[in-house]
Amino acid sequence: MAYQSINPNDGKLLQSFEHMSNAQLEQALAAAETCFQTWKHKRYAERALVVKKAAALLHAHVDDFARLETLEMGKRIAEARGEVRFSGDILAYYAQHAEAFLAPAHLHPKVGQAHMESSPTGVIFCVEPWNFPYYQLARVAGPQLMAGNVLVVKHAGCVPQCAIAFEKLLLDAGAPVGAYTNLLISYEQADRVIDDPRVKGVALTGSVAAGRSVAARAGQNLKKSTMELGGSDAFIVLDDADLDKAVPWAVWGRMYNGGQTCCAAKRFIVMEAVADKFLARFKAALEALKPGDPMDEKSTQGPLSTEAALVQLLAQVDAAVKGGATLLMGGKRIDRPGSFMQPTILTDIQPGNPAFRDEFFGPVVSFFRVRSEDEAIALANDSDFGLGGSVWTKDEARGKRVASRVDTGMMFVNNLDWADAELPFGGIKNSGYGRELGHMGIQEFVNKKLVRSGPVAAPV
Ligand code: NAP
Repeated sequence: MAYQSINPNDGKLLQSFEHMSNAQLEQALAAAETCFQTWKHKRYAERALVVKKAAALLHAHVDDFARLETLEMGKRIAEARGEVRFSGDILAYYAQHAEAFLAPAHLHPKVGQAHMESSPTGVIFCVEPWNFPYYQLARVAGPQLMAGNVLVVKHAGCVPQCAIAFEKLLLDAGAPVGAYTNLLISYEQADRVIDDPRVKGVALTGSVAAGRSVAARAGQNLKKSTMELGGSDAFIVLDDADLDKAVPWAVWGRMYNGGQTCCAAKRFIVMEAVADKFLARFKAALEALKPGDPMDEKSTQGPLSTEAALVQLLAQVDAAVKGGATLLMGGKRIDRPGSFMQPTILTDIQPGNPAFRDEFFGPVVSFFRVRSEDEAIALANDSDFGLGGSVWTKDEARGKRVASRVDTGMMFVNNLDWADAELPFGGIKNSGYGRELGHMGIQEFVNKKLVRSGPVAAPV
């Protein structure tokens, strides 16, 4: 299917774009390879000029970028502005720190000297999702461009205008043609890109299904890949939790970005002692949300990204109820134009119900009661995913102990402050492998080369 920009607030088609031809794709890959041959030799300061300028342009035009995103995928305008600013911060962070992160590291062999040096590897292919149309791109563009790599990027089918705007941003910032190229391509063409010998690595953020397909293709080609996939993060409320803090974070953690965040709180695992109180307050807060046009600052709930996403989520809720879950609230589409879903709470979800293992990518709460801390941890770990999770308790040391026992790539104690430019982000199990952001994100696609020197006598 071609790329289509549809406003999910009213279902109106804004613009559509054909896939590139194979000849155009070849041109784009050739330009990327040509660009790499000079970009890789630039000094960090020269690359930083471009990346810093892109950051400044994002900060200078927050509203323009944000409005486009709100139009294309329905993110509430205030959240969209926050994402644009954060994307600028990520670019600026790597412009500032890349050289230090990739500086030679000296080793201490018994004989002679040795160091590890880092060099760029080439054209990196990125496949990105629509839920953070700019932040996801900044997460790869900042570190990879600063490392001396160049990018060809397939963005999601529903956000072509954001994809084009980000490519233009980098060109406006002075990036040479080929440093960052947006590709409007099909899956079959994506496979060709992965197979192409000029492409040296593959980074995907998206669903498990997409990860399996793209990682397998990269594996066939013996190319390094990173996979940032889905999640079903536990929100563990211990018996001594401060509900005044936990409940507002529960609402934010589930409903931010319309509930369409990989590391959103999805499974609420609450100890019996506070379960009734927590549930009553959480439900009341969800009932108080005001769905409406995401462009309107007064709306506190926007639409889902697409009609297809809504239809899939409604079917998942139906299957959960058929499988024996209780629908405590919601479960239906909201009676108004656009792809809006009622905030929904499911309880009594038993193992064997598809809802026990699946990811709900929208405003659906899975609620579980447990009798002990150990039971909470066991339930949190009984998941195919391992992205993030959180623990709520007045005793921070206890929270950290519980966090250490949950099998995920990220844990948060008494907050859900997920992402910071300086903090590595990523998961384990079906949530993928590799890390983006922080000092780790820039190491994924560089050659870490050992150089050993000094006169060492040949063994006799
Ligand atoms: P998706 O369907 O997997 O799409 C993500 C990207 O992959 C899109 O660009 C999509 O293109 C592309 N794609 C899918 N299958 C492909 C294939 N076989 N070959 C090449 N490209 C392919 O994911 P989604 O449902 O839109 O996004 C939500 C998922 O992403 C959730 O599971 C969420 O948890 C996850 N996510 C993870 C993170 C993280 O950092 N761990 C962050 C954000 C989101 P089309 O749009 O053209 O189909």
